Amino acid sequence: MQRFLFKKFNNLSVQGKSMAIVVAALAGADPMTFLFYGLFFHDRLMLDLIFTSIIVVTVGWPIAYFFMRQHAELESMAGKLKWAAHFDDLTKLTNRRTFIERADALVQSAGSGRGAGALLYIDVDRFKSINDTHGHAAGDRALEALASAIRSCIRDGDLAGRLGGEEFAVFLAGADHEQANRVSQRIRQSVRAVTEAIGIEDRVITVSIGMAMHIPGQSLDETLSLADRYLYVAKQRGRDRVIDEDAFLTAA
Ligand code: GH3
Ligand code: MG
Ligand code: MG
Repeated sequence: MQRFLFKKFNNLSVQGKSMAIVVAALAGADPMTFLFYGLFFHDRLMLDLIFTSIIVVTVGWPIAYFFMRQHAELESMAGKLKWAAHFDDLTKLTNRRTFIERADALVQSAGSGRGAGALLYIDVDRFKSINDTHGHAAGDRALEALASAIRSCIRDGDLAGRLGGEEFAVFLAGADHEQANRVSQRIRQSVRAVTEAIGIEDRVITVSIGMAMHIPGQSLDETLSLADRYLYVAKQRGRDRVIDEDAFLTAA
């Protein structure tokens, strides 16, 4: 019952909560006035009931409203802090720590019998030159647009995060090699549209991707460093490409 009432109370607006407090105070004060004045001063009972109600409402309402406003602000601040602890403000993707935690949970839940999916390590090519030529604000807009391009290529159960700077990671839950390749190429192609979207004309924004399949029993850290190694090779071999294990083992 108490929990039910708390839940109902928490769902009310600030005004609703303040009103509920005042009504509760009235429900306490009026019966007491009724009792005491009914016993000792019954000739003034009605008048005192009216006064008690006026006093409770005029004093109680501003106090209740003030505290409920404070409470609502604290609640909203706590929500924002919680969000900021998990997400990147610019791109709205999960931050590095949360991405690792969630990807690790997927790896753990796959157990040792099967691979958990594919990990894509994505780095924007020559990103520094975008900042240098078009300014940091244009760089930021590009990162935002890149993040939505990446998000639009993955499914609900997949993870996308900003690992830092102009580096992103995607975990394709349960994907096989062919699916992972297809999504990687789709991401690589779709980020090219970012250039036009943010109005950069002197070059096309591209990404390099290192794609590692999670192997049964492998830790997330191991998969991540493989993807990182493949990404490095993608950069070496000219950028704007996806490198997986097969491509890694094949000479350029
Ligand atoms: P490469 O193809 O080898 O990856 O070259 P690159 O220029 O992308 O690599 P580098 O690591 O030298 O540069 C990354 C740049 O990303 C440097 C930094 O100024 C920029 N950067 C990192 N974080 C942000 C950000 O939040 N906003 C903006 N606008 N730029 C950022
Ligand atoms: Mg980088
Ligand atoms: Mg880069």
